[in-house]
Amino acid sequence: MNYLQVAGFLDNSLTNGQGLRSVVFVSGCNHRCDGCHNEIMQDFAYGDKVLIEEVLERIKSNIPVIKGVTFSGGEPFEQAQDLSKLASDTKKFNLNIWCYTGFTFEEIINNISYNKQWMKLLNQIDILVDGKFEESKKDSKLRYKGSSNQRIIDVKRSLEKSEVVLFIP
Ligand code: SF4
Repeated sequence: MNYLQVAGFLDNSLTNGQGLRSVVFVSGCNHRCDGCHNEIMQDFAYGDKVLIEEVLERIKSNIPVIKGVTFSGGEPFEQAQDLSKLASDTKKFNLNIWCYTGFTFEEIINNISYNKQWMKLLNQIDILVDGKFEESKKDSKLRYKGSSNQRIIDVKRSLEKSEVVLFIP
């Protein structure tokens, strides 16, 4: 049985990616960004240990209203193996996957030989919003991201081209 440490869940959100989306917030993050918007979720023990199947059922209860599912946190790549399973199960219902991470796309790619689970998760993600939150670059007018250093990345096209391809929402 596979579990996720879940910090929170939103059934319907318009601010965590394009279109109406369910959002899974996972617990645990070591990035320690100044001005972190979800500081309580940095704790790896925060929230509840939930079966992946239960999270999937909650997502399914929002079909057909939602267009996709967003992983946020916390740091989703800290639970890459279990989130890759949830993502692949979710995509069977024709839902796309957005994922927020404090790592940069390049950091993830450079770590893949060391951490195979990261590649499994990355392969399931359609859009990655990457990079730590930087308070000095905070801009409340930005769509779907908190600070201007963060990028909204088309993962499939970036992997094909071996360079970052931005997604323009
Ligand atoms: S990556 Fe996100 S959750 Fe982690 S410290 Fe930074 S803002 Fe907070």
